[in-house]
Amino acid sequence: MIIKEINCKTLLNKSKIEDYCINCYIGCSHSCKYCYAEFITRKMTSHKEEWGSFVDVKINAPNILREEIKRKKKGKVFLSSLTDPYQPIEKKYELTRKCLEILLNYNFPIVVQTKSYLVLRDLDLFKKFESCKIGFTITTLDDDIRKIFEPNSSSVEEKIKAIEILKNNGIFVYIFFGPVLPFLSDENLEEYFNKMVELNIDEVLIDKLNLKPGLWNSIRKVLETNYPKLLEEWRKILFLKNNYWDLLKKRIKRICYEKKIKYIFCY
Ligand code: SF4
Repeated sequence: MIIKEINCKTLLNKSKIEDYCINCYIGCSHSCKYCYAEFITRKMTSHKEEWGSFVDVKINAPNILREEIKRKKKGKVFLSSLTDPYQPIEKKYELTRKCLEILLNYNFPIVVQTKSYLVLRDLDLFKKFESCKIGFTITTLDDDIRKIFEPNSSSVEEKIKAIEILKNNGIFVYIFFGPVLPFLSDENLEEYFNKMVELNIDEVLIDKLNLKPGLWNSIRKVLETNYPKLLEEWRKILFLKNNYWDLLKKRIKRICYEKKIKYIFCY
C-alpha cells in the first residue's frame, strides 16, 4: 500500500447524495472492481497507481472541519462518497471518528456507508446522535463472489455480525444492494431478502451497475479470469438494448412487497 499524508483545504463539501459529504481519504484499499470513485479520483488527482493500492490521508481533516462547521448551515452529512470511511487505515488515523465527534458536537445528522466491520468501533458515538443511519453494502451473501469483486472489504459474515450488533443497539441500518451483479448476486434473491428480514433491516437500496469510463476494463478482466461464461451476457446487458434491469426491478419489487421490506431503487 502506498500511504501518503496530505493536507486538505476543504472537507465538508456540498453533495448530491445528502446535503454534505465528507471524505477523509483519497483512494480506497477495499479495491472494489466496480468502484465508481476510481474514475472521479483519477480525474481530480494525478494518481496513476492501480486502484486499491494507494490512499492519501487528509491528516488535517478534523481541524478543517472544526473551522468549516462554524460557518455552515446545519445539514445531513454523508460519509463517504469517494472512499470507505472505515477502510483499514482508519484504524490507525481515526479521522472518521474525530470528524464524527465534531459533527456530534454540532448535532449534524449523519449517514455512514461502509463495507467494514470497523464501523463498530464508533458505536458509542452513533448512539449519541439524534439522527444516524448506518448503511452496509452487501452485493452478495456468497463470500467467494465478495472476495472477487470487493477483495479487501470485510467478509459477509463479519458484516452480518456488525449489523446484528448495530441493530441490537437501536441503530437505523440500511443495506445497499448495489451494484447488482448480473447472474451472480441476483441468483438467490429470495435467500438474500430473507436474510434482510431476519436481520430486521430498516431499508434496502437497490442499484444497477452503471458503467463509468474505464470501468468495463476492470470488470472485463474479472469476468475473463473468474466467470468467462458470463462475459458475453454482461456485455449484452451493459452495452445493448435489453430489459434485464426492468425485469430485475419487477422481481425485487414483488419479493419486497411479499416480505414487507421497505425498498428504494436508485435507478
Ligand atoms: S468500498 Fe466503496 S470506495 Fe472503496 S473501493 Fe469499494 S466501492 Fe470504492
